[in-house]
Amino acid sequence: MNIFAVRFTMTNKIEIINKLLIEHFGVPPKAKKLPDPLDTIIGTILSQNTNDNNSYKAYRNLKDNFKTLDELALLKPFQIEKYIKIAGLGKQKSKAIYELLKNLKKTQSKVSLRYIKKASNEEILNELTSYKGVGVKTASCVLLFSLDRNVCPVDTHVHRTLNRIGLVKTKSPEKTFLSLLNKLPVGTAHSFHTNLIRLGREICKAQKPICSICPLVEICKYEHKNFETTKSNRASSFMLLDNLS
Ligand code: SF4
Repeated sequence: MNIFAVRFTMTNKIEIINKLLIEHFGVPPKAKKLPDPLDTIIGTILSQNTNDNNSYKAYRNLKDNFKTLDELALLKPFQIEKYIKIAGLGKQKSKAIYELLKNLKKTQSKVSLRYIKKASNEEILNELTSYKGVGVKTASCVLLFSLDRNVCPVDTHVHRTLNRIGLVKTKSPEKTFLSLLNKLPVGTAHSFHTNLIRLGREICKAQKPICSICPLVEICKYEHKNFETTKSNRASSFMLLDNLS
């Protein structure tokens, strides 16, 4: 099927890609309870450059040792680092967590981001990215995972796969994110985002895609498809941000 024919809008194309991914990977499980926005930000900071299992262990170390984030906010970066070492980049991540909590403490007696819940997507993106260390990806994870908004965060897997498929032609994850914003069919963001990450981890890998087993091969416009018969390593299906509550 040529989904790039003029009559298909971006929303139509996303719908078709989402359907094919669900047929292949299934509907990804969602958290039963939405995590607090601050928990999602801390989880996302911990997840940078490591796998979801290690970032989850670091996240649990914080949650199990501090009853509230106000207690965590009393620590210096080197003290936070002790608890999150397993996720790597301890210095950088502890500093980012410290700065975020310090900034929130300036204006609040109890650190919280609950006040953003009623704001629009655009307002929340602006507000959260004004904090040092919080980028568009982290802010969009709060929208999807904590507030259940129909927004697709874009990491390197989502960016790479969507460019190869031909849905977007963008130079950075941030630009990919902006191309998708407000274009997703209602209720598709969580499955679209999660299944694209699985596609990127297991099939459409950065070095060499395994197009022979890809559910999108019929619609994908990538010019350098690889049809060698390579086995896909089934990546861990554990998704950190669906397991924070
Ligand atoms: S057909 Fe190949 S390049 Fe296209 S999305 Fe699938 S694995 Fe990636």
